[in-house]
Amino acid sequence: MIEADAPAALPGISAPACRNADPALFFPAYGVPLSQAQITAAKELCAGCPVRAECLAMAVRSDEGDGIWGGTTPLERRRMRLQLARMRQGAELARAVVSGEEPQLLQAQRPAVVHSLFRMGWNAERIGCALAMTAGQVEQARAMAARAEAFLALVERHHPKGWS
Ligand code: SF4
Repeated sequence: MIEADAPAALPGISAPACRNADPALFFPAYGVPLSQAQITAAKELCAGCPVRAECLAMAVRSDEGDGIWGGTTPLERRRMRLQLARMRQGAELARAVVSGEEPQLLQAQRPAVVHSLFRMGWNAERIGCALAMTAGQVEQARAMAARAEAFLALVERHHPKGWS
């Protein structure tokens, strides 16, 4: 969320939608959680924000623990960070699968492994056999991983120095 007294947008750079919004909409008072009505209203504002992607990437990268950023709550951002971390582990686990090991995969790790196996040239049928997944589950995992991969690319594009 951009502070209300933030400078006006530079020419060619879009102004954030929350520039003149009430900060209370985006940040809870100390010790008081945001109400569902606040979250909904803030998210509506974010939905039309021209810098939403950058805002979200920054908040995920810096592990913002409070408030609404880029249309997400702290819990949603934590889940995104977890998902990104899993994407980074996917290639290693996939290599273990390729080498014939049978790593114990959590359900949540499967999309990243499926994604990596596709990148290594495996087809859906072979992946399904190796991971005991149906064709539909493989496709679903692939779609989930593609979204996570796109978001990871966004975060790294805006914050190329890495994230923790
Ligand atoms: S995405 Fe939301 S929090 Fe981020 S700059 Fe835009 S309006 Fe503000």
